[in-house]
This record gives sequence, structure tokens and C-alpha cells, in this order.
Amino acid sequence: MDKIRVRYAPSPTGYLHIGNARTALFNYLFAKNANGDFIIRVEDTDIARNIENGVESQLSNLSWLGIDWNESVDKEGNYGPYNQLKRVEEGLYQTFIDKLLEEEKAYKCFCTSEELEEEATRQKEAGQIPKYQGKCRHLLKEEIEEKEKSGIDYTIRFKVENDIDIKWDDIVKGNVLFNSNDVSGDFNIVKRDGIPTYNFAVVIDDHLMEISHVLRGEDHISNTPKQIMIYNALGLSVPKFGHMALIVNQEGKKLSKRDGGIIQFIGQYKDLGYIPEAMFNFISLLGWSTGTEEEIFSKEELIKLFDANRLSKSSAKFDVAKLTWINNMYMKSLDEDKYIELVYPFLKEEYNIDLDKRVEKILMLYKNQISYGKEIVEVSTLFFKDFEISLEGKEFLETLESGKVEEIKKIITNKISEKKFELSAENVKELINLVKEETGLKGKNLFMPIRILTTGQMHGPELSDTLEILGKDNLLKNLK
Ligand code: GLU
Repeated sequence: MDKIRVRYAPSPTGYLHIGNARTALFNYLFAKNANGDFIIRVEDTDIARNIENGVESQLSNLSWLGIDWNESVDKEGNYGPYNQLKRVEEGLYQTFIDKLLEEEKAYKCFCTSEELEEEATRQKEAGQIPKYQGKCRHLLKEEIEEKEKSGIDYTIRFKVENDIDIKWDDIVKGNVLFNSNDVSGDFNIVKRDGIPTYNFAVVIDDHLMEISHVLRGEDHISNTPKQIMIYNALGLSVPKFGHMALIVNQEGKKLSKRDGGIIQFIGQYKDLGYIPEAMFNFISLLGWSTGTEEEIFSKEELIKLFDANRLSKSSAKFDVAKLTWINNMYMKSLDEDKYIELVYPFLKEEYNIDLDKRVEKILMLYKNQISYGKEIVEVSTLFFKDFEISLEGKEFLETLESGKVEEIKKIITNKISEKKFELSAENVKELINLVKEETGLKGKNLFMPIRILTTGQMHGPELSDTLEILGKDNLLKNLK
């Protein structure tokens, strides 16, 4: 069998989105699992939409996720160049364009943009789907020459045959069938500026780069029949296609920029101090399953287990709770040094404090609780900022007679005000027992008021450790 070669083909028109990261990741897993090659090809022909550093940021974010590649713009293999504009410069598409023109499978179209717009408007008004009607399809040789001589701009269109079936066996979707009449009218393969369109360039590149499998998002499925027509017209063998179902939000809608609750760019995860291995794990389960109940897998395990046949046919829900859970699992199992290295910079940035024993203890206090680095700032405020204690609206307090809150406060204040009382974790436990005995409270009714009175928070790490680190003075201040 020929070598497995797959590619991720980003257009550097934006930063690495979670959806594209998933496409890259599945291609990567597919290649690694089959001992194949994973290629990153940059599709940068939409010059106006390319952003500065678009390529670099795509690559560096993929690296951060733990994805590496066999060939790309920064790692030339035998199939370069790896960005399309360079390939245009090198004339790699031209022979294929010439061949199609010569065999009259493509033609030059001199219609102006205005003409084309008018045509489309007329069709829309008549309730039809706009489709080029082929005005330039039958121009005579002399007419073409004349127009060219007079310097009229043209595009090159592919001749779509009437009423033919285009089908393929999709790795994800199974049998897919399109009729050429429903696909499009004769479509452009070269733009007015002489640059090939996506649908054409992608075919030539996948062919020249000997891509064996094309795994991409389902949003490209309507492009595939056009691409297959081009392969066929050029007599090239067609790669195997797989179109992955989209990622959707909690409401089942396609992810959009408005989904504020979902962080969508990999760079944002990186900046927030997420653990790349956890993100790799999470993304790999977006629309794919290992076939087991388990959720935590290392990259190596995922490579071994990957099977494109288990890519899901239905859309993948972006489950924020699962994201948090997986990241927390990785945070818990991180080595202490690595954890501090990841999390401390966020405290440093917020408060400009040095890393000493106390700060280390504070960081460690939250290791089991947080799921990303920057979360430390949010959860640990009680050690760094003044706060107000609000006892309102806390459901458990309804069960307390109001007098008991004051009573608890008094007991704790008196006890820790004793000169010889040392605020150690051990003694905090005794202190709580003391409150228990004197007030007769127990369970939530005992712990919650104490936690809130001393830390201002309803939830947090082990209270005795927290108070020990907080120290007597701060604690007295809080109680006051
Ligand atoms: N440049 C295309 C995109 O970013 C690639 C599509 C493909 O994989 O064929 O969507």
C-alpha cells in the first residue's frame, strides 16, 4: 500500500480556532497511527484576508498542543514549497490549467463582475439558485483572441458536465452522492488576478503532494464534488475523503463568535495557563471516541487507539464542564514543580509577589481545585485582597438562629486572640470542635458559617490549611 500522507491546510486568515485545531489533531493522529506523514500546507491565496503572523501563530499554537509535522513551510520536504503563493510563483499549477484549456475542459470567461452580479440578481429574483449560465462557454477562437488582445481581464472556468453523478465513499459519512446539476454552474478555477481558486489549488496540491486521505470539516463537503470533477478531468487518482461533523455549542448550534461561554482560540487557552496535554486530550474527544468509557488518555495512547472509523457522524457538543473536568484531572496529576512553574506567573503578574514558601503553600492549596493557571488569581484572593463578608442569602444560614453567627464569631475571635494560641492546621481542627461543642451546631450548619466568616468564601480548599497560611492577624481582621 502507498504511504499514508495527510495534511492540515490552514488559510492564515485568522488564529488557530478550536475547530481547525481538531482537524489538525485528527489528521496528526491518523498519520501517526499509520506511520504516515503529516503535512501542513499553507493556503494563503486569499491575500486580502491573510493576517500578519497568521502562519507563525498557527504553527506555534499547534506545537504548543503537542502536534508536530513531517513537512511544512518551516520544514521543507520533497514536495515543497508548502505555501500556495510560492507554488503559484513557481508555476506549479500552470501545466494543469493549460491542459484543461487545451482539452476544452475549461475556458476563459470575460464576463465582468457587474454582468455576473446582474445575472445572479435576476436568478435570485426568479427564485432560482444563482448559477453561471455559461455565456463565455462557446466563444469562438477569434473572439477569445480579440478580447485578450484588448486587455480584458478574465477568469478561467471549469466546464461542469450536465447531469452526471459524483459519488464517493466518505470515511465519516459513508456513501455521498451529488448530481453535477446541483453542484454549481461552471466554476472558476483561476481568479482575475491569475491566482488559482481554492477548489483548484487544493486538488493540484493534494495530487502533487501525494496526499492519500483528506480529513476535513463537513463545511467543505459541497466543495468535494467540484474537486472530484477536477481530478477526473485531469485523469488523476482521487484521495479518500472524510468529512468530520462540526463542533456545536451547548444549544446544538454551530460555534460562533457570540458563544461567549466557550473559549474558541487555542492561543487563549495557552495564555490562560491551560495544560497542553489536557487540551490535546479534550480536543481528541470532540467528535471521536475510543470506544471505551474512559476519558483520560495520553497522546501516545490516543495515537495507538486512533481509528477514523470512529469519527462521529453527528455533531460534537462542546462540553465546557468536561473541558474543566479534564483539565482539572491533569492539574491534579501535575508534578509539584511543573505546577508551580505553570501557575505562579499568574500571581506574579497580578500582585508582583515573589515566590517564597508562603506563596508556594498558597499555590499548592489550590492544586486539586483549579483547572487552568490563571484561575489561581480568582480563587486565592482571600490571601491577597481585602474582602467583604456577606452572610446574606446563604441557604444554610436560614437554619441558623441569627444569634449563633455572632456566637461563632465570638468563640473563634476569643480563642485565637489568646497569646499562646498558635494557628496551625491541627489547632484549627480543635477550634472547630470547640465551636461545635459550644453551639451545638453540626455538619453544613457548622462548617459553612465558619468558612464564610474566616475566608469570605463558600467554597475553597481544606479550611485548616487555608487558615494556617492566612495567619492570625489576617484572620482576626476578617472576623472583625
Ligand atoms: N484552506 C482550507 C480551509 O482552511 C482547507 C480546506 C481543506 O482541507 O481542503 O478551510
